[in-house]
Amino acid sequence: MASALIALGLRKGDRLLVQVEKCEAVLTLYLACLRAGVVFLPVNPGYTVAETAHFLTDAEPALALVEAERVAALAAMGARSMALGAFLAQAADSSANFADPDPAPDDLAAILYTSGTTGRSKGVMLSRENLASNAEALLGLWRFSEDDVLLHALPVFHTHGLFVATNCALYAGASMIFQRSFAPDAVLAALPQATVMMGVPTFYTRLLADARLMPDLCRGMRLFISGSAPLSPATHAAWRDRTGHAILERYGMTETNMITSNPYDGDRRAGTVGMPLPGVEVRVIGPDGAVLPPGEAGAIEVRGPNVFGGYWMMPEKTAEEFRDGWFVTGDLGAFDAEGYLSILGRSKDLVITGGLNVYPAEVEAALDDVPGIAASAVIGVPHPDFGEAVVACVIASPGAVLEEAGVRAALRDRLAAFKVPKRVLVMPEFPRNAMGKVQKAELRRVHAGLFG
Ligand code: AMP
Repeated sequence: MASALIALGLRKGDRLLVQVEKCEAVLTLYLACLRAGVVFLPVNPGYTVAETAHFLTDAEPALALVEAERVAALAAMGARSMALGAFLAQAADSSANFADPDPAPDDLAAILYTSGTTGRSKGVMLSRENLASNAEALLGLWRFSEDDVLLHALPVFHTHGLFVATNCALYAGASMIFQRSFAPDAVLAALPQATVMMGVPTFYTRLLADARLMPDLCRGMRLFISGSAPLSPATHAAWRDRTGHAILERYGMTETNMITSNPYDGDRRAGTVGMPLPGVEVRVIGPDGAVLPPGEAGAIEVRGPNVFGGYWMMPEKTAEEFRDGWFVTGDLGAFDAEGYLSILGRSKDLVITGGLNVYPAEVEAALDDVPGIAASAVIGVPHPDFGEAVVACVIASPGAVLEEAGVRAALRDRLAAFKVPKRVLVMPEFPRNAMGKVQKAELRRVHAGLFG
C-alpha cells in the first residue's frame, strides 16, 4: 500500500483522506501512510458529502479513498478520489521495492478533525513522536503483551479506536477481534475469546442492560478500559457486581492522546481518571493563573511528548490554546490528596448561577445516585434572576417513573441549594455524537427558552 501511494504520486507531508466503513484496510492504510511519510486523515463515513467538503477545502488532500458510490460526488467537488477497492487492487499489484522516505519523529503522522459541535471542526496535527510516545506509555501501564486479544468495536476515525486501541495492540504484537461497530450480540459472543476490551461508557451501560452478561463470559478477560466520556460511578459499581471486574477509566483527547489513567495494580477509583501517564505532566490552574493544590478545582493543562503540534492552518487558534508551553484542555478538574484526577466537565459547560460556580459533574454524580435515574446531563440555561439556572436532563431507568419534585427533594440532602437543579427534565435519550458523548450544546439550544 505504501508503494502504491508513492506510485500514485503522494509524497512526504501530503494528506490521504480516508472515508470508508470500518474495515481492516483502514488500519493497514494507516500503517502504509506511516511508512510512506504520508499524513493519514480519516473521516467519519457517516458525514454527508456536504459535510465532507470542509475537510477537502481545509486539508487539501492529495488523494481521497472512499466507498465506490462516493467517488463521483467528491470528484465533482474537485477532489482526486478513488474507490478503496480499486486502490486495494492496485496495491496488490505494487512492487515491494520502493524508496522509503525515512520520516523523522517530528514529521506529521496524522490529522484528526475534532468532533466539536460549535464552530468549525479543527484539524489536529499529530506527529509520529506524539503517537509513539503515548503508545509506549500505555503499553507498559496496561501490561499489553503478544498474548493479548483486544476486542475492538470502536470507530477507527477517532483517536480512541484508531490510536489508543490499535497502537497498543500493534506495538505489543497482540491480536484483535475487529468488529464493524458496537453490537451487544457480537460483543457478548466474542468476549470469551478476548483478554482486553476498550470502550466508551455507553458500551458498558448497554452490555449491563443485557441479561446475558455474566461472569462466565469474562473468564478470559484481564482488563476492561473506559474513556472518551465520563463513566458514572454507578456503572462502575454495577459492572463490578456483575462481572467481578473494576473498569479502568482513563482520560485523553484528540489533541493530547492519553493524559491520565487509573492504575493497573492498585485502586481503580470510580469517578476519577487516575494519574498522569509516565512522561506526561498535568496541572490544575486557578482563575489568576496560579497552580492549585489538591482538592481545588480549576482548568486542566497538559505538557509532554503526547501533546499535538497545533491545529492545521490555524496558528492563532493554536496560540490561544497554549499557556507557557502547556496545552489548555478546556476541561475542569481537581486532583485529590492521592493524586487521582477528577474531571468536572468542560469549561464551557460550567454553570454560573447567581455568581456561583456549579460543576455539572458534581450534580450529575448526585443525580446518578437517585433511584430510578439511569443517566443525567446537567446544563446551564439562561435565567432572568440568576443569569443561568442549573437544569438537569435525566433518563429514567426501565420501569421507573420520575417525579420532578421528588428528584429535587432527594438532591437537597446532598447538595447546597444553589446546586440543586431548578428544573428536572425527563427525556427518553440524549443527543450524542459518534463516541456516545452527550451533546450539551444541543441540550442548551433546545431548552434555552425554559425560563422565558
Ligand atoms: P475527543 O477529542 O473527542 O476524544 O474528546 C476529548 C474530551 O472528552 C476531553 O477533553 C474530555 O472532555 C472528554 N473525556 C475523555 N475521556 C474522559 C473521561 N474519562 N471522563 C470524562 N471526560 C472525558
